Amino acid sequence: MKEDLLGSTQGQAVAVDTVRSPHVLLRPLPLDAVNLADGFWEPRRRINREVTLPSQCRHLEETGRLDNFRRASGKTGGEYQGIYFNDSDVYKWLEAASWALAEHTDPGLQRMVDAAITEVEDAQRPDGYLNTYFTFERAAERWTNFDLHEMYCAGHLFQAAVAHFRATGSRRLLDVATRFADHICDTFGPEEGKRQAVDGHEEVEMALVELFRVTGEKRYLEGARYFVDARGHGMLGSPYGQHDPSYSQDHEPLRDQSEVVGHAVRAMYFYSGAADVYAETGEPALVEVLERLWANTTARRMYVSGGLGSRYEGEAFGKDFELPNERAYTETCAAIGSVMWNWRMLGLEAEAKYADLIEHTLYNAVLPGVSLDGQHYFYQNPLADDGSHRRQPWFGCACCPPNVARLLASLPGYFYGASEDAVWVHLYAEGAATVELDGERTIRFRQRTRYPWDGGVEIDVDAEGEFTVMLRIPAWCEEGAAFEVNGESVDAGITPGSYAKIRRAWRPGDTINLALPMPVRCVECHPYVAENAGRVALMRGPLLYCVEQPDNHDVDLRDLALESTKPTARFEPDLLGGVVVLQAEARSVAPDAGWEDRLYRTVHQGGGNVRTEAREITAIPYYSWASRESGAMRVWPRSG
Ligand SMILES: [Zn+2]
Repeated sequence: MKEDLLGSTQGQAVAVDTVRSPHVLLRPLPLDAVNLADGFWEPRRRINREVTLPSQCRHLEETGRLDNFRRASGKTGGEYQGIYFNDSDVYKWLEAASWALAEHTDPGLQRMVDAAITEVEDAQRPDGYLNTYFTFERAAERWTNFDLHEMYCAGHLFQAAVAHFRATGSRRLLDVATRFADHICDTFGPEEGKRQAVDGHEEVEMALVELFRVTGEKRYLEGARYFVDARGHGMLGSPYGQHDPSYSQDHEPLRDQSEVVGHAVRAMYFYSGAADVYAETGEPALVEVLERLWANTTARRMYVSGGLGSRYEGEAFGKDFELPNERAYTETCAAIGSVMWNWRMLGLEAEAKYADLIEHTLYNAVLPGVSLDGQHYFYQNPLADDGSHRRQPWFGCACCPPNVARLLASLPGYFYGASEDAVWVHLYAEGAATVELDGERTIRFRQRTRYPWDGGVEIDVDAEGEFTVMLRIPAWCEEGAAFEVNGESVDAGITPGSYAKIRRAWRPGDTINLALPMPVRCVECHPYVAENAGRVALMRGPLLYCVEQPDNHDVDLRDLALESTKPTARFEPDLLGGVVVLQAEARSVAPDAGWEDRLYRTVHQGGGNVRTEAREITAIPYYSWASRESGAMRVWPRSG
């Protein structure tokens, strides 16, 4: 073991450890350096820890996912159960549980983790290979069809192992991972005598970089770079038939790409892996293409929720402006992948636009994926629905549930960053943080806030000496952002969508008061998204809103047309776990009687819609929809 290159050990768990990466501007903080106190996120994280993780472990057992490992090690017989990549669900759960253990001692959860690791250990082959689908009757088929996710599963094993090692200091799972990684790096690569291949589903790239960061083994970084470089040379595709090479971003080399295409989760994982490779190598072409793809994603192919992937076919991105609401695919995993990619870009470039999108995606595209009780999940996240789309307790393809769990478990890691002489506050929530700056200074932050319901944030800075605090001024806060230090306003050049810089000699007891006004905003969509023409979405602070039938019983939501008057906001402590609801004037503008029994008619004078009197309607945060009796939902009501 190379001690000097080791990442973190127990108590120093960092979800994506770029501390020693040479091309990273902002280094992350260990998970246990940030405590989220009671407020918006911590109750959800407690449910994740105490309810979601144990219930997911039961699903892994009941659906045969753990039995597949027992079968592979000869402990049980029978058939392999479920989809060929079911191992990955066990690994993602192990990663989530490990991050949870990094912060909280939990003997029950610890036992579940230890037991699962034993099954994984025992299933590994003597040559390091590990995939329970390719055992016994399928052993000869290993590495023959790269659309069967062998490297994808391996990547999730590596990420789980890194998390477990950083959280507990134990090498048990890490040893399994490095044996398999050695096997992969011995088998595949550009060198003569090795096989040339890439996996249909990206994931192993970022996992190998993380394994490099923990172990210091350069061959893992070289493996990751090889898999990034090798994609786009047509190695996938025709033999596996059912999809175009672009489905797996294999249609052209990454550095030549300018549009996000194909399976959205794969794309996000690919770009995350490429960003990780850039963090270590600094190759300019890599970061240039990532910026290009980010621009195409955010300006042309992203839902107002931050959700990604507009097509059911291929779970894929559509063309520019192809963003249907009711048929939105927007897999929860794609949103999680977007957070992962944006987190890496934020570290590389220290630009607020990435932190803005992390915040927006967390609240509006990841959070809808899990129910308030922490035991039901959305796979797809439509932006309009007739009431039939409901969260499910589990899926045959269960990628999303443990993905949500691992993000919530590692969430504190996304709140702050540190550069040479500055502490960066990316996200706001009630809680505290301890930041070690330049190896000698310890700075304690305490945030007091009702965010995201209120934009007032009071930050105690407990420190001595001169350094900089960088505060994110969200892009949504278009007017009126201001802050004071110790009651005196500071002219720090506040620009929405950037970091405000406060440099001073700090003293214990110093307090920053940040004001981020949250007026209700009516948001319109680019006119080329035909479906949203003449419609508006409501936002307040970082939250996207929707109208849902249970709050608006006697109106067909398809007919709802908002009036131009300003909506108002009100906190409802007993609704949906406590939310700010918006109230707006709206009318029902229904089709006239002439439309009965017909879909088309010649345009004529006199025909029209039936307008009712304006009335008050209620909008709720989009993340909380489908939590009561079923009913229609819409993010984009008509305007006027
Ligand atoms: Zn998923």
